[in-house]
Amino acid sequence: MSALDIVGDDLKTELPSGETVRFAHLDYAASAPCVSAAADAVAELLPRYGSVHRGTGVRSQTSTVAYEVARDVVAEFVGARPGDQVIFTRNTTDALNLLARALPAGTTTILFDGEHHANLLPWPNPLRIPTPSSPYFAINALKSVLRDLRTPAVLAITGASNVTGEIWPVRELADVAHTYGARVIVDAAQLAPHAPVDLDELGADYLAFSGHKLYAPFGSGVLAGRSDWLDAADPYLRGGGASATVGSLPGELTWADGPARHEGGTPNLLGAVALAAVCGALLVADRDALHRHEQELLERLRDGLRSIGGAREVSVFGPEHPRVGIVSLALPGHDPAQVAHRLGREHGIGVRAGQFCAHPLVRRLTNADKSDTCGVAGAGLLRASFGLGSTTEDVDRFVTGLAAVLRS
Ligand code: PMP
Repeated sequence: MSALDIVGDDLKTELPSGETVRFAHLDYAASAPCVSAAADAVAELLPRYGSVHRGTGVRSQTSTVAYEVARDVVAEFVGARPGDQVIFTRNTTDALNLLARALPAGTTTILFDGEHHANLLPWPNPLRIPTPSSPYFAINALKSVLRDLRTPAVLAITGASNVTGEIWPVRELADVAHTYGARVIVDAAQLAPHAPVDLDELGADYLAFSGHKLYAPFGSGVLAGRSDWLDAADPYLRGGGASATVGSLPGELTWADGPARHEGGTPNLLGAVALAAVCGALLVADRDALHRHEQELLERLRDGLRSIGGAREVSVFGPEHPRVGIVSLALPGHDPAQVAHRLGREHGIGVRAGQFCAHPLVRRLTNADKSDTCGVAGAGLLRASFGLGSTTEDVDRFVTGLAAVLRS
């Protein structure tokens, strides 16, 4: 098995007809399956782990080294600059909440309203810009907001939308933000699994992503970026590890500097090691080839959907390029939840239906505030998403299955 092969790729499911088929997982955007690099890293450490940064025994020492090596690998994955920090978190939501608490008081966070709730809700002084129809308008909208703003600001933006799959022009937006002295926070939850995420190339001051969308198991995430605000902030979790010295009286304490300040409590060693193992495997992978494969699948899916019955029956959101392997569909006259359920039961295909924790965007795309164009009020969209290990057979199964469900 190679490092980026999916573990459990041959998972089977039984259809009502009694036929057993390979399960076609097309819900990578929610949680991607695990690759062997992550599984092997966990298996290797399972018999030997102990508490990180605590204890002198061989288990503890092995674990401390493994944890800090994992941090170094992630630092390389994000192209950490001198003075940047890599903090292990539980997931992207956790990373962005941590950063929200570390912003200097009075900072306005500028965001487009198409963000995932994880990047929409944590910020103390949000200023929401309606998501424009094209990146060109996004850049202009950002300029005009920054021109008029009288407070310090940051821009919090997604790298790729979990709804439309659209890759945002992060670099161009970051250049605008930096011109006005605003730092840039990139929610890379959906970008990192599909494209390189280099802090400098993206123009990002901070980057957040989740292990479970990056082919590692659950419970680990990353916040990477500039140290100054993080070192000046109150610890995200007060407790052991975050504290440097604690006296007898309540006020007698000093907090740790560096990542430890925000990683209070015993860390998730196996999660960090699994996530870093995938980062390491991706660092040496042929990312261009992976990108080409994904774009071929996207094209095949688009062609297949066209063959189903045109825009009246299935409409796809987002531009053709640039996008990651995420496609959301409106199915006028059908309830997406019912369609997803039937795809699972009758065709052995896993997709997702709903509003994908991006309610403002999905409501706007479906005109839910004005009319019921989905055919079912508030039902949202149907989303298929893929990545490493996805095949043309998965795409064809989805198209055929969807056509069959919509017909009957
Ligand atoms: N941002 C985006 C763009 C996402 O797609 C998601 C997960 N759907 C998140 C943030 C939150 O990730 P997590 O649930 O792992 O915290």
